[in-house]
Amino acid sequence: MRIIIIGAVAAGTSAAAKARRNNEDAEIVIYEKDSFISYSGCGMPYYIGGEVESADELIPRDPAFFKSKYNVEILILHEVISISPDKKTVEVKNLLTGDIFVDSYDKLVFAMGASASVPPIKGTDGANVFTLRNIGDMTKIKVFINANNPKSATIVGTGFIGLEVCENLKGLGIEVTLVEMLPQVTPGLDSDMAVYVKEHIEKNGVTVLTSSSVSEITEGSVVLSDGKIIDADMILLSTGVRPNTALAKQAGVELGITGAIKVNNKMQTNVKDIYACGDCIEQYHVVTGKPIYRPMGSTANKTGRIAGDSLTGGSLEFKGVLGTGIFKIFDMTVAQTGLSEREAIMQGYDVQVCHNIKPNKPEYMGGKEMVIKGIADKASGRLLGTQIVGFDGVDKRIDVFVTAITFKAKVEDLFHLDLAYAPPFSTTKDPVMYTGMILDNAINKGRPLMTAQELEELIHSGEKYNLIDARASSQYEKNHIETADNIPQSKLRNASKNFDKDIIAITYCNKGVTGNAAQNILINQGFKKVYNLSGGHKHFSKMNLKDNTK
Ligand SMILES: Cc1cc2nc3c(=O)[nH]c(=O)nc-3n(C[C@H](O)[C@H](O)[C@H](O)COP(=O)(O)OP(=O)(O)OC[C@H]3O[C@@H](n4cnc5c(N)ncnc54)[C@H](O)[C@@H]3O)c2cc1C
Repeated sequence: MRIIIIGAVAAGTSAAAKARRNNEDAEIVIYEKDSFISYSGCGMPYYIGGEVESADELIPRDPAFFKSKYNVEILILHEVISISPDKKTVEVKNLLTGDIFVDSYDKLVFAMGASASVPPIKGTDGANVFTLRNIGDMTKIKVFINANNPKSATIVGTGFIGLEVCENLKGLGIEVTLVEMLPQVTPGLDSDMAVYVKEHIEKNGVTVLTSSSVSEITEGSVVLSDGKIIDADMILLSTGVRPNTALAKQAGVELGITGAIKVNNKMQTNVKDIYACGDCIEQYHVVTGKPIYRPMGSTANKTGRIAGDSLTGGSLEFKGVLGTGIFKIFDMTVAQTGLSEREAIMQGYDVQVCHNIKPNKPEYMGGKEMVIKGIADKASGRLLGTQIVGFDGVDKRIDVFVTAITFKAKVEDLFHLDLAYAPPFSTTKDPVMYTGMILDNAINKGRPLMTAQELEELIHSGEKYNLIDARASSQYEKNHIETADNIPQSKLRNASKNFDKDIIAITYCNKGVTGNAAQNILINQGFKKVYNLSGGHKHFSKMNLKDNTK
């Protein structure tokens, strides 16, 4: 059996290694048009910033390694230029010599990845304009910085790659401006979580321009669509990627609705003996079962392994993705998994959200707060998604949520997880458990939450309501929601006796705990509609910055 794989980064090399583990006799050849293989694209921002000192650390393997360890032939600077599925042949161009030759396969694997998408703007071909997709791009950026010592940079797009590069350029002393077309940064997050990220980026001295787009790039500057001109010695276009599908289309391979290659859960395309994996394929969502395109290294490795297994007769099957992602911006960690609130609503769920603000460990052990947004389905109680912004310990919480959502946990299940506790690591009830408790209270225990946005709408609706700030007077004096009355929780039992029990009441404290205690008092006194403000005054005041909706 002769297996030909196109592309030798994450997916292609994983497919080859797995195929070899299953089958000692197959001939396995990978054609790669680039000169680098099997590198860590994810580490590239840290080489630009100097944290990774040598590019070699990101490229630990070469073709000789694959030949000796796996008996896999990798031919670099060889581009597959066409495919004949009927004859089961590929046409390959040697990019060094220009020679073109034909090779034949029994099984063919597309692992062609994705390319940086460049917006149609005048001036993107300038010598100081970059994308960051591969080692060649990374080297160009590093060489430019070393040679030109830029003072200012503009990054277009605020996805995780743009933000990781932002942090690294800032670390080199370069003034960075982020330009984002949407009204918020980090497009994957809900806007009420993105405000924390934006605030943190700005706190670290980066200029953030949301609802802004670039209309032209000129030498040394970027022109925005509102006419504003920003100095920019260098520009990074970080505006997403698109799957490499030209060869697939030419071969009659079907694409999915996202525009990436459609595969089944064994990584087979619609064309016999052609498989596909990695960033060139469409995946499906674990929660909705619907197609999505999330080009991630984690998934490329997984789907590469499945392709390699499947084409050698193995039984591995793909089980979907949750769109899980995590990145660091300065000392903040941002992570998400599953459906966002926006996506859940679009999918037709009756959504319950909560904003849980808790330290990762006791404050006496140096704990720092994280904000967890939980998104659940009111009808079934199933957890649908989670977003977290915080510092230490965000990574382990997100992975607990990933596991819980994957195994279809209901919100009430989270409290019962036997999570590890000792003061250096966690709190007695972990923030994950609190998230479940808050959502369970809201969905199943008659303790509804009101979001900051819903409260804003209520305030402006003209409907009657009682907004009760249940904190101590000293805290109320410092800051409070304009229309709130201060009734500290300890006085609420008596004070509320004269209130109209039919009017909507909303309680709040700093983060939600005392607000919930106040809510319990009113509900137990027979009030009909009592809400606790999700995330308390702390979250409301962040939302009230209004910069997320500008
Ligand atoms: C800066 C950056 C940071 C990232 N950080 C993370 C992260 O933190 N976490 C995460 O999960 N993911 C991250 N990713 C994404 C991750 O790197 C990709 O998902 C992963 O590289 C995809 O692997 P792949 O093999 O499918 O595709 P690619 O890496 O795109 O490789 C495909 C290869 O195929 C070759 N090829 C294409 N067409 C042909 C042809 N016709 N003939 C021969 N060769 C061809 C290309 O030259 C390319 O080398 C990051 C990406 C970048 C750019």
